Amino acid sequence: MTHGRLQDKVALITGGTSGIGAATVRLFVQEGAQVAFTGRRQAKGEALAQELGSNVHYLYTDHTQLADCERCVAEAVARYGRIDILFNNAGIVTKGTAETTSLHTWQETLDLNVTAVWQMSRLVLPHFRAQGGGVIINNASDWGLVGGQDALAYCVSKGAVVQMTRSMALDHARENIRINAVCPGDTFVERWVEKGYFEDSDPVTIKQGLAETGAALPMGRVGQAEEVAKAVLFLACDDSSFITGALLPVDGGNTAA
Ligand code: NAD
Repeated sequence: MTHGRLQDKVALITGGTSGIGAATVRLFVQEGAQVAFTGRRQAKGEALAQELGSNVHYLYTDHTQLADCERCVAEAVARYGRIDILFNNAGIVTKGTAETTSLHTWQETLDLNVTAVWQMSRLVLPHFRAQGGGVIINNASDWGLVGGQDALAYCVSKGAVVQMTRSMALDHARENIRINAVCPGDTFVERWVEKGYFEDSDPVTIKQGLAETGAALPMGRVGQAEEVAKAVLFLACDDSSFITGALLPVDGGNTAA
């Protein structure tokens, strides 16, 4: 029997109902973890949990509600008795410049992309400390490392995640608590189709749209959610035991220039 890289570990993954989060739920289960994951889309969450079996549990959570974050951490601990890994993945992408971003969009973006990451992180810390250690991986973005156009609130939020990662890594380095971030570049997820990034949802149109977006990137293609999940796995498991405060671009070279 193979021994997974996350054997006997308990992971809590936020925003696991789709995209990068769902790909990470799948990979972590394959690697032997017990996984609790959150998200707001109940039907999708329950379907994924049912498909993956008894080592996976879906917890309906709206991370913009701080009390909901508290409840989900408490439920995960009650169910599994511990949490070894937190993947702060839930996030929204919003558009707008300084002038066209509404206060509502600004607050909504920061509430989920920043405040919820802080809230979830501080909620797991006492458990990590009591267990003698733990790992947090934040999902930032290449737009947390460099600026981006027409996405001011989003870029500000991901820049904040980058600084939260570094600063928390230093604060907790002596406690065997490692805190790192992945910084994905353009990564194809269902949301791109749902949000109308392509003219229509015909597979041929999508393929053509992906080829056009990818052509502008150094590796000539966009990423896949599974490729980000593999980087998250590396940061979650003992292979990265001497790495903390790192920002790992998973962007096909986009931020190398
Ligand atoms: P996605 O929309 O499929 O995933 C977002 C997840 O967050 C979903 O599960 C959604 O249900 C959940 N979510 C949204 N609002 C929530 C809320 N209030 N409470 C709880 N859950 C909520 O898209 P994705 O691309 O997989 O995004 C995942 C993360 O990756 C985000 O933080 C995003 O900023 C980051 N990212 C994505 C890309 C990309 O190109 N796909 C690039 C860089 C960074």
